Amino acid sequence: MTELAPYAVSEHNSRGRKIAEDAPNSRSEFQRDRDRIIHSGAFRRLEYKTQVFVNHEGDLFRTRLTHSIEVAQIARSIARRLRLNEDLAEAISLAHDLGHTPFGHAGQEALNACMKAYGGFEHNLQSLRVVDLLEERYAAFDGLNLCFETREGILKHCSAGNAAQLGDLGERFLQNRRPSLEAQIANLADEIAYNNHDVDDGLRSGLITLDQFSSVQLVATHLHEVRHAYPDLQERRVVHETVRRMINTLVTDLIQQSERNISAQGIATIEDVRNAPAMIAYSTGMDELQRELKNFLRTHLYRHYRVLRMSAKAQRVISDLFGVFMADSRLLPPQFQSPAEHDRARAIADYIAGMTDRYAIREHRRIFAMEEVPI
Ligand code: MG
Repeated sequence: MTELAPYAVSEHNSRGRKIAEDAPNSRSEFQRDRDRIIHSGAFRRLEYKTQVFVNHEGDLFRTRLTHSIEVAQIARSIARRLRLNEDLAEAISLAHDLGHTPFGHAGQEALNACMKAYGGFEHNLQSLRVVDLLEERYAAFDGLNLCFETREGILKHCSAGNAAQLGDLGERFLQNRRPSLEAQIANLADEIAYNNHDVDDGLRSGLITLDQFSSVQLVATHLHEVRHAYPDLQERRVVHETVRRMINTLVTDLIQQSERNISAQGIATIEDVRNAPAMIAYSTGMDELQRELKNFLRTHLYRHYRVLRMSAKAQRVISDLFGVFMADSRLLPPQFQSPAEHDRARAIADYIAGMTDRYAIREHRRIFAMEEVPI
């Protein structure tokens, strides 16, 4: 195995776990974190949570589980190439969406609106809450007791108000410092994954067409090359071939520009990483191209009327459930019942955020539908 770069996170410079544990005997600390994430209940539920399309809309669309696996694949490739801690990049990638509500961003917005008077709801913070508190699997502690660097990577964004309550993990937001390069990689791998798989899923759904991409340079360039090199290729394979070339282009650019940044900035230690601006970045030209794609997807896919209809339904499910549970907490499963209003709101948010798309739909029917619904 290639030796890690001196500025990579390692077991030697790690800030360790909240609760000290014996060192693992056959794997690294970060492999152990990754393994704990894979064995968590929240990770399994990602299979039935939405990215853009609701889970029952089709079997081939990405779910949060397949999305997270794609993020991990991209992050590992980049981390290995930059001689960074691949296990850490993988662990962060697999955990980054654990706190997501059902129904993607529509669900997050609805739950945040419901929680406005109770401190709000933010899926990043919820992912941290899942690994720090909500998973109940170990005898000696709540949560998964992950290493500081894994938790830091999961907390991608954070408001100053929330950061102030998070102790050492919130410090960097208040001091304007950066997380590890591995965390920066996972963050951008997330974007690379969803921009590209949303092109694929968007086309598969028929909500957008290949012709519409003529104005999006990153797609149009590769599409043109593929069609030129393989004039008789079946359309679905044209899409796959185009998307794989786009991912490769973005990853290659990211690796090269990040290497240039690291050397120009004279990064030598993990402390340097934390004090420097973000080192993992695209070249200026590529950054513009990927923004153009992002904007296209926002306008033509995420705001497509059929996606918005589904989002509106999803928001209604979430706010109906929240409202009915707040009004009468006896309707909740006992472990989520709480007499104090503020605690009850947070417990309900935990309950709802933990639901899969189909569980939320079923729960809504169980409570609101008069016709017979299987329990
Ligand atoms: Mg994601």
